[in-house]
Amino acid sequence: MSSSVPSAPAASTETCPLCGTPTVGVERCPSCGYHLAGVGGRPGPWTRPALWWTAAGLLVVYAITLLIVALAR
Ligand SMILES: [Zn+2]
Repeated sequence: MSSSVPSAPAASTETCPLCGTPTVGVERCPSCGYHLAGVGGRPGPWTRPALWWTAAGLLVVYAITLLIVALAR
């Protein structure tokens, strides 16, 4: 669910995408607690290391599942 807006709106009129509360200079929405990474001028949540750690985690879970299935036979 990555809603990347091509042309970001003006930073002075930042609002929470979930509830519409004005959110200027805060990391989380004060009303609903929605994390505002990627909104306005903030950096997005998906950095390259985060992507690789997610892939590594999925691979570990896959390997453990494969091991359990192999041992259950
Ligand atoms: Zn909100």
